[in-house]
Amino acid sequence: MNDFLPMPDENGYFGEYGGQVLPPELKAVMDQINDAYEEIRNTDAFKDELNDLFTHYVGRPSPIFYARRLTEKLGGAKIYLKREDLNHTGAHKINHCLGEALLAKHMGKKKVLAETGAGQHGVALATACALVGIDCEIHMGEIDIAKEHPNVTKMKILGCKVVPVSRGTKTLKDAVDSAFEEYLSNPADFLYAIGSVVGPHPFPKMVRDFQSVVGHEARAQFQEMEGKLPDIIMACVGGGSNAMGLFTAFLNDESVEMVGVEPAGLGLDTEEHAATMTKGVKGAIHGFECYNLQDGEGNPLPVYSIASGLDYPGVGPQHCYLKDIERVRYETADDQECLDAFMTLSRTEGIIPALESSHAVAYAMKIAADMDKDKTILINLSGRGDKDADFVADKLGL
Ligand SMILES: *Cc1c(COP(=O)(O)O)cnc(C)c1O
Repeated sequence: MNDFLPMPDENGYFGEYGGQVLPPELKAVMDQINDAYEEIRNTDAFKDELNDLFTHYVGRPSPIFYARRLTEKLGGAKIYLKREDLNHTGAHKINHCLGEALLAKHMGKKKVLAETGAGQHGVALATACALVGIDCEIHMGEIDIAKEHPNVTKMKILGCKVVPVSRGTKTLKDAVDSAFEEYLSNPADFLYAIGSVVGPHPFPKMVRDFQSVVGHEARAQFQEMEGKLPDIIMACVGGGSNAMGLFTAFLNDESVEMVGVEPAGLGLDTEEHAATMTKGVKGAIHGFECYNLQDGEGNPLPVYSIASGLDYPGVGPQHCYLKDIERVRYETADDQECLDAFMTLSRTEGIIPALESSHAVAYAMKIAADMDKDKTILINLSGRGDKDADFVADKLGL
């Protein structure tokens, strides 16, 4: 695992995206994190520790599953699933949270900090911190706390301090500000653990590296199963970590087409979506340059998706670069298509996918029928849908 691409450059740029759009004192803190990461990432001690946890704790490698009944139903290309939903804690996020928690420990940090929206990042990080033995503090809007009670309970059980945020919108946006203020009170002793391939350098690089195990496994597993590489690989894109995790190992395989699937929510012609790549403009948010959805004055717009893990107004800088050079194609699936995919996968394969992952399944369902039967599609099933089951049942009147 961990084959590192030559990108980003030393200032954290992927083409014109990424970097550190920060005041000098914060830039210095980020540079320290980068130095520490560069120092330990290729040491045997760090690699062995992370790989050992991947194997014995997360349950890696996650299998690839040939979705035979779904394939037959659609009547075209063969569909395969990379089963990140089978990881401990039920999604791909544990891969980078373990990396971040280990880095914090190696750097001698006293506390790991983050914000969370729906609580998925919070739970994965609290899990990693409990395992590694380091304090964890998660800031969460009061509205989200009320909505996502099971995740709040899990964080508390795991020994994490959950800080309710009552200012402003009482949601993710203000939780970010609150967590960041706490971080700034003592950046020497704290590590701010970003939950995707976003934020200032070095986070897009680090989170990608920690997630790249997904694609490295998948590439070898697929070749073993089918004797060739897949024709198309696809993943949902919120911030873009599970997609970069899958794509990285395939970037140099010219025959492999790649598709990132963004949430079109209630429709691209409404304000209710989070299709950053499709509808966004170039600019800086949250300390880095990327395509983003913003108002005329450069403030991030409120965004929406039925899958709360996808509603981020920016997107990872490497994705922006890969879009511009046309190495990856970015498409969308809306709420209705997502729900259809959620139910279809559940009923054809007995696999309940996360609503986030269902966006990737939805796009595969859109194109598979028009592809030849000897073609193959590999989908990153980023997480399981237990967390979404009640919501979907309610919505569909089951
Ligand atoms: C958080 C989450 C996502 C979105 O995050 P990315 O960084 O875009 O991968 C996707 N799927 C699941 C299951 C998630 O929990």
